[in-house]
Amino acid sequence: HVKGRGKDGYQFYSDTMNVTSSNRLKIERDMRNALDNKEFRVYYQPQINAATGGIIGVEALIRWHHPERGIIYPSEFIPLAEETKLIVDISEWVLKTACAEVKSWIDAGHSDIRLAVNFSPSQVEHPRFVNMLFKQLKEYNFPPENLEIELTENVIMNDLEHMIQKLSKLADHGITIAIDDFGTGYSSLNYLHKLPIHTLKVDQSFVHDIQNADNEACIVNAIVAMAHGLKLNIVAEGVETANQLEYLKSLGCHEIQGFFFGKARPADETILLINSSAHSKAS
Ligand code: C2E
Ligand code: MG
Ligand code: MG
Ligand code: MG
Repeated sequence: HVKGRGKDGYQFYSDTMNVTSSNRLKIERDMRNALDNKEFRVYYQPQINAATGGIIGVEALIRWHHPERGIIYPSEFIPLAEETKLIVDISEWVLKTACAEVKSWIDAGHSDIRLAVNFSPSQVEHPRFVNMLFKQLKEYNFPPENLEIELTENVIMNDLEHMIQKLSKLADHGITIAIDDFGTGYSSLNYLHKLPIHTLKVDQSFVHDIQNADNEACIVNAIVAMAHGLKLNIVAEGVETANQLEYLKSLGCHEIQGFFFGKARPADETILLINSSAHSKAS
């Protein structure tokens, strides 16, 4: 169920399950055209070192600049793209675009900047997934150590043995793997030490109530402690206030992402932000 987005985003349709078949066909056709017409954009949201305030990396988040409807957010079309398998083409486009843009920042001297890219189930389950990734990295001469891929628990649990093989190939090449929306999936915790995982991203629903609700605070506390024990990196998502930041820091959370530091923005604005972050670090 997708709720209203406010005035900066158009409500495309209210619920994937309720979309009529003719409407679905139209959206599907629109999405296909959107790729050809270059209506998609990659926006970047900074990921911040909680201790220094410097930018460690960016998460690539897709936006659809629809000629009539304005900006459409991923929650309104990624689920349908996933159902129709158009996601495979869309994800490959996101990866290419983000690799090209972030490579230019790396070449401009930000050699450590990390690029995080989201992948959905049918992309990861695609038999060519690993080869596609390697091919694109090579094509853009993008250092694998600078790439992090974000997967949800459900993607991994779907076929654990197979996933171990796939992800190990990526990890062997230096690509890091993050579990997105951690704590909201159905998974057991058993997979955590079987997979070459590098990062846990604490879901924003836990961060949101961290100071008002003891339960949320407890859950975040436990996730951070577990990540420390397993020597995993931890990113808290959805940080919107200074109080949340302070609290997360006090728990020992290394990295922060959220509106408090900035929303996702286009590439040209992002590199300005990265430049000024690097300058303030140097001075
Ligand atoms: P996600 O990967 O968990 O991304 C984080 C989402 O939280 C983003 O929404 C981001 O704009 C939003 N967010 C970040 N900080 C805050 C905050 O402080 N407060 C609040 N309320 N929200 C915050 P967005 O960009 O609308 O993306 C939604 C989801 O769509 C993503 O969740 C991801 O699952 C999916 N998605 C986005 N881009 C792609 C893509 O290129 N490929 C795939 N497969 N999925 C994507
Ligand atoms: Mg993500
Ligand atoms: Mg998330
Ligand atoms: Mg999500």
